[in-house]
Amino acid sequence: MVIDITNSLQCPYCSTQLQKTTFRQGKGFFSYSCKCDEYPVIFGILYLKKDDFQTHKKILQHLKKGQQLKAFYTALIGTAKTHKFIIMLTYYLKFVLGIKLKRTHLLQILYIAGPARSWFSYLLKNHNRNTLQTATYVCINQVKSKQTYNIIDVGAGIGFFADKIRTRDTYVGLDKSFLSTAIAQLYRQTKNCLYICSEVESGLPFSSNVFHQILFLDTFAWILNKNFLIQESARILKKNGQFTMVNVHEKNADTYWWGYGISANTLFSLLAKNHFKEISFFGNSVNSRGLQSVTKTSVEPLGYSLMASKGLHG
Ligand SMILES: [Zn+2]
Repeated sequence: MVIDITNSLQCPYCSTQLQKTTFRQGKGFFSYSCKCDEYPVIFGILYLKKDDFQTHKKILQHLKKGQQLKAFYTALIGTAKTHKFIIMLTYYLKFVLGIKLKRTHLLQILYIAGPARSWFSYLLKNHNRNTLQTATYVCINQVKSKQTYNIIDVGAGIGFFADKIRTRDTYVGLDKSFLSTAIAQLYRQTKNCLYICSEVESGLPFSSNVFHQILFLDTFAWILNKNFLIQESARILKKNGQFTMVNVHEKNADTYWWGYGISANTLFSLLAKNHFKEISFFGNSVNSRGLQSVTKTSVEPLGYSLMASKGLHG
């Protein structure tokens, strides 16, 4: 991790600043500590979550003994055994033998081995899906500024959006799945990139006024406490920072299995309540003329997108 954005890391549980601690001097092993706990960094991924099994403490124990692969295996708690084996082997090949498997090949192997075949089939087919193109257009292509941006991607998955980032920007990808962050970390393309395995419903792990952009790509529907995450987004964004949501849907019988929908009207009210301004709605896809703007009363209920900017009091 080459980025100084780590100076702005904050514990989502106690809201105090996270301080880097190096151990096993010279081996590049380190962790982050706050008032309430200590969180490990495994192969550059910050493991910033707590569970009933004290997984973060077990990972730390292994790291402190110099057992990085064992720590990595422990972090894969909850991952299917076949997938654990495949990703362990991939990391072993890369970090011990220096052999790098292509991302498509890894996804194909994970798909063939199962379980969760539909998920890996989706990942294999959707590395250039409409919503990804729309997010890239809104957050990168449309931005003419030569300024360096700090971008945070909430629910980063295996890092498809990170592939689109300009090399001068700083990127943070959050995901609650360690398997996803492990795949993303393996194929990351820029140095200014930090993956954090965290549970965003506990809060966003940064101090206030840090980011120029926050993106929810195909993820906001899965957030339970939507108002809290909007508040958190406003907190970590800089003044006039851009808030982007791609692929949200309304709540109806057709969207029952797609997470937790929200109407454009309700979303507009939540954003306005949290001092967001210039709230604009558009469709999930982009064409040669750019975004397909719509009003909040005429959004496509099965999938709409929006952007807004942080107002003065956000
Ligand atoms: Zn803490």
